[in-house]
Amino acid sequence: MPDTFTDEQRQFLQLLRLPVPGDPPPEMAQAKPLVDAPTALPNRPISAPAQPASAAMSSARREVGSATAALPPAEVAPTPVRSPAPPLKTEARQAPVLATQISTPVADPQRITRIATLDWRALNNMVNTCQACPLGETRKHAVFGAGNPRGSWLFVGEAPGAEEDRRGEAFVGRGGQLLDNMLRAMGLSREKDVYIANILKCRPPNNRDPLGPEVQACMPYLQRQIALLQPRVIVALGRFAAQGLLQMGTPLSQLRGTTQQYQGIPLIVTYHPAYLLRNPIDKRKVWEDLKWALGVFAELQ
Ligand code: SF4
Repeated sequence: MPDTFTDEQRQFLQLLRLPVPGDPPPEMAQAKPLVDAPTALPNRPISAPAQPASAAMSSARREVGSATAALPPAEVAPTPVRSPAPPLKTEARQAPVLATQISTPVADPQRITRIATLDWRALNNMVNTCQACPLGETRKHAVFGAGNPRGSWLFVGEAPGAEEDRRGEAFVGRGGQLLDNMLRAMGLSREKDVYIANILKCRPPNNRDPLGPEVQACMPYLQRQIALLQPRVIVALGRFAAQGLLQMGTPLSQLRGTTQQYQGIPLIVTYHPAYLLRNPIDKRKVWEDLKWALGVFAELQ
């Protein structure tokens, strides 16, 4: 934990009833904490197939297992993670999702096939020089992702913002700080446990919503990233990330509180940090979602 906190970090920790160094104990400090005794995250060998959550997951991991050798070397150290709160109301939160399929025409099959064969470095290089959609002309920097490629968690956002575009880094600025606070509240960090990527690698002008053709052009990069990363759990941040990964038009409100599947990998949906900056009242909903994700992860152990 850092020695100093911004007002926003302090507010978020207080909202989660986590102790803030230098502050008097939160009013609920004597009550049962939101998360219980820490356990240890496994030091997951990148070459070893992940433990499946289901037969479908097992099948998907076999499919991409050989790709992990293409990941760059990384220092991975065990990191403490707190066990999740008791499962949320399973019956109510796992109601069937009414999915409306979005048609996704396959453009340039040769390009998609080529992307699906790239290793991590080649994929990064291709993204940095990509002009497959008009955003390639307006961006300052493409943003490939951030975090530990060998982490067990993948968080997927929407698209780079102005600061990300300027620096070429994912989730920096206020939204990135809030995401880091969310991860810290989960007992995770992007340096050890989490990789963060976006649906779009280039910033839409004026932070407008992604357009369908842009998502279709860029999605093969994220699909290849996921195949190489083999995360244990995916957390989709916001509607575009969820609908893009799931290829469905189901509203975020119906996706929250359910465990979806991306090619056999459990996928949890919650709000995007940028939305939370505008609607801080919904931070409690996000914490419910993150506890749900921790519970799903714990069941995989
Ligand atoms: S948004 Fe994606 S597809 Fe479009 S130019 Fe950038 S990297 Fe290429």
